[in-house]
Amino acid sequence: MTTIPFDNSYVRLPDRFFVRRAPTPVAAPRLIRMNRALAANLGMDPDWLAGPAGVGMLAGNSVPEGAEPIATAYAGHQFGNFVPQLGDGRAVLLGEVVDRDGQRHDIQLKGAGPTPFSRRGDGRAALGPVLREYLVSEAMAALGIPTTRALAAVATGELVVRETRLPGAVLARVAASHIRVGTFQYFAARGDAEAVRTLADHVLARHYPEASSAEHPYRELLDGVVARQADLVAAWLLVGFVHGVMNTDNMSVAGETIDYGPCAFLDAYDPRTSFSSIDAHGRYAYGQQPGIALWNLTRLAEALLPLLAEDEEAAVAAAEAALAGFGPRFEKAYHDGLAHKLGLSADRDGTVALADDLLARMTENRADFTLTFRRLCDAAERPEADVGVRDLFVDPTEYDAWAVGWRKLLDEEGRNPAATASAMRTVNPAFIPRNHHVEAMIAAAVEQGDFGPFEELLAVLSRPYDDQPAHARYAEAPQGGRADYRTFC
Ligand code: AMP
Ligand code: MG
Ligand code: MG
Repeated sequence: MTTIPFDNSYVRLPDRFFVRRAPTPVAAPRLIRMNRALAANLGMDPDWLAGPAGVGMLAGNSVPEGAEPIATAYAGHQFGNFVPQLGDGRAVLLGEVVDRDGQRHDIQLKGAGPTPFSRRGDGRAALGPVLREYLVSEAMAALGIPTTRALAAVATGELVVRETRLPGAVLARVAASHIRVGTFQYFAARGDAEAVRTLADHVLARHYPEASSAEHPYRELLDGVVARQADLVAAWLLVGFVHGVMNTDNMSVAGETIDYGPCAFLDAYDPRTSFSSIDAHGRYAYGQQPGIALWNLTRLAEALLPLLAEDEEAAVAAAEAALAGFGPRFEKAYHDGLAHKLGLSADRDGTVALADDLLARMTENRADFTLTFRRLCDAAERPEADVGVRDLFVDPTEYDAWAVGWRKLLDEEGRNPAATASAMRTVNPAFIPRNHHVEAMIAAAVEQGDFGPFEELLAVLSRPYDDQPAHARYAEAPQGGRADYRTFC
């Protein structure tokens, strides 16, 4: 017997914010993986969670004491088109837990069965996407990027029908909250100004408490979401992450990366890269992400408009002022990050131009993003190591020409080369979830029931900035660049 210290604030909001709905039980739950450190931090006993009662809960077969399961209502712009009602169609929020550090977290089961928001969907998740989300979200956390976390993955013992019949699974995920830009849009689109205000107050108290006492708390709220999203998207770009489906219903107002579907990391650098099979026009391509984030934030500003000022003109001016903060905030985070990746300080003249020049040459030469920056760490230490970087370029002399200017700026910095290199290794990961390894991991699990590759990849990605010579194969780029890589969600 154990108790989970639930403290559920979202169910205390008005009825129209959610529908009470318990998860639908599954045939034969079996634990695939549980995140013991995360469980312990949430005040759960990992041994209980791994036992029959815990696994039953993680599968949705039993509702633990203190949980108040709900499906939340939200709307969203999907690929630019507004859908007034989406909502949790295959996820059930069990409740909230306050962790050891006083942080509040949602515990949600994704793939937990149909809800009133399921439309024609079955409410379920297939094993492959569950493993992808588990692995990639945990990799993002280890990279230091704000993200939802994976608490556990459970096989259901049932099949789900997609293009073929696939084994089913449930992902237990943890988030600061699951409140989305689309949650605000849901109420705004219905003209429910009171609900927009109630939701804004909830988000202020929960995610932006310092803004609650400001003169204009709702403007501070918008400023806060803008700032966190600007930093988040910069962090994505700096590790080569492509979210893949940045609909407004997949953007968290808490500033975490959320809803891992067709996401993938760049191999060869090219800002036009999009992997998702449903993103034929590249709306959500790597280089589009800052612009799309701002587009989504503009939708949030529209939803908040009545709260920003009494008269409309003043409200629009306040919204515009908040949105104008995105560009500079993003540019600073991105340029600082790029400078650090190069072992330089961002305020040195020429650093930004040098970084842009490198990225242009990388695009032209199909250079692998992660390997280029990781090998630059060695090159900063020993010029002989240039060979490792130049080999990544179709025309290696393109790198040589760039490196002359880089070395000049490194000299101006005047730092010890070994210190520069080790600082660079803390921001240039050796290991990211490489698409070809993620695919192989999923295939082994789905086709052979072999979770060995999942466990191994997860362990490697938990220390992305450490050289792990025994696992060097996970750092390698795919043969031939894999320009045709496609993800499905
Ligand atoms: P997504 O783009 O995957 O975040 O989902 C968009 C919307 O579709 C959300 O309202 C989801 O809850 C819903 N949805 C996705 N997959 C399913 C499913 N298998 N069953 C029911 N609803 C789903
Ligand atoms: Mg209700
Ligand atoms: Mg979603």
